[in-house]
Amino acid sequence: MEVRVRYAPSPTGLQHIGGVRTALFNYFFARSSGGKFILRVEDTDRTRYSDESLQDLYDTLDWLGIKWDEGPVVGGPCGPYIQSERLGIYQKYAKDLVDRGLAYYCFCTSERLEALRKEQEATHSPHVGYDRHCRDLDPQEVRRLLDSGLKPVIRLKVPAEGSTTFHDILMGDITRENSDISPDPVLLKSDGFPTYHLANVIDDHLMGITHILRAQEWIPSGPLHVILYNAFGWTPPVYCHLPMVMGSDGQKLSKRHGSTSVRDFRAKGYLPEALLNYVTLVGWSYDDKQEFFSREELEKVFTIDKINKAPGVFDYRKLEWFNGQYIRQRSDASLAEAVKPYLKEAGLLEGLDEKTVAEKLLGVVPLVKERLKVLSDVTEMVRFVFADPQAPDAKTLCAKGHTPQQELAALERAYPVLRAGLEGGLEDAAIEENLCALAPELGIKINGVFMPIRASVTGSQVSPPLLPSIRVLGFEKTFERIERSLDTLREAVAAEGGQNG
Ligand code: GLU
Ligand code: ZN
Repeated sequence: MEVRVRYAPSPTGLQHIGGVRTALFNYFFARSSGGKFILRVEDTDRTRYSDESLQDLYDTLDWLGIKWDEGPVVGGPCGPYIQSERLGIYQKYAKDLVDRGLAYYCFCTSERLEALRKEQEATHSPHVGYDRHCRDLDPQEVRRLLDSGLKPVIRLKVPAEGSTTFHDILMGDITRENSDISPDPVLLKSDGFPTYHLANVIDDHLMGITHILRAQEWIPSGPLHVILYNAFGWTPPVYCHLPMVMGSDGQKLSKRHGSTSVRDFRAKGYLPEALLNYVTLVGWSYDDKQEFFSREELEKVFTIDKINKAPGVFDYRKLEWFNGQYIRQRSDASLAEAVKPYLKEAGLLEGLDEKTVAEKLLGVVPLVKERLKVLSDVTEMVRFVFADPQAPDAKTLCAKGHTPQQELAALERAYPVLRAGLEGGLEDAAIEENLCALAPELGIKINGVFMPIRASVTGSQVSPPLLPSIRVLGFEKTFERIERSLDTLREAVAAEGGQNG
């Protein structure tokens, strides 16, 4: 039998780590078993629906390189795949249950239900929820009410006694007393829209879904869905409720832990291949050795028997580490493309022609590749190449434990050495060696020789490797900045001298 699985999000918010994990597990399971991955949009809750969320769903899957075999946009034999376009189907099936005595019309007004709720609360009644008032209305009364133009809801007759069991391949049998199941949930609302339960069950059946991989928070709906499948005379799919995604404190992952929307991760500069790889490892592992998987590999090796029962921990630091690893795997050209939007957004590429941008980017990418954790780090690391940094003050020009006097002497000595090396065509290593040799002569540490140059050139005490940075920046700019710093140090020394004298 062909595996058919689906990702069925409700477009009521941005795609988050937990949702994407569900999508990936379904997708990889479909691919590795030669089956079909179906995307279905469960948009029947119109009060929470937003166009932005739907667009975000498409963008996110697209960014991750996840293509659906059937669903919105691409179509397929079981369409439409957007629930709000399937209302007639749900209405027909709900009516069918009423005709067979397995569901019923309820005419209760919202005022009556509200009063009922208040009363149950006030009396601490053990019965919460609907009181099944309309479950046994006389058929003639029902006719009369319908004819009078009232718009009823349709409720499911949940058996009052007995229990319902469903099997989950990870969790085993899950049994619930029918008396504990919500008394007669609404299947179809008075405006003709289905509730989640009805639409979900009908679509999984009509779309030939063989396995339901979804978050554990849906377990409580399981027994109800099984009752619905039975009512329709259908066999439920195989259930596999996925382990929870936790933060490192063992609580369900939420905004408290940090960003959870994929859009945020994308904006910070996580690579899709890193996110995809890491998120798939939250609650799934191949063996205890291999951690790095490309999408193509996962499409081959993912199996559901390797999904863990225990909750998975989403560790932000680990994701960051994965991201760094994937950044280093990218070619310089591809990384240059990837960082470009960040520099653009920071306004650093303004007034530069395409060719210059391309050259500069290819120049800086190798300098920062080793140290980038997320793409957005690039902006501050390479700002000095694209814009004049604020002239560093004397303190910034001095290495730890070195005075402005020492650094002035060092820079006065080092500048001509550097300049001669660069202009004379020496290799970086040779120039560095010449600079290092100045330290004992000046009676300072090596760091004391390099710091004023580094701070002059980059505006900061930490920078990418110095000589390669200078080459990307250009000699002229480098010399200008060093000369400016010489002035700064001279002023600082003079001011100090004035104070002392
Ligand atoms: N629309 C539900 C959601 O938002 C689908 C749950 C399910 O997979 O059955 O997650
Ligand atoms: Zn009623």
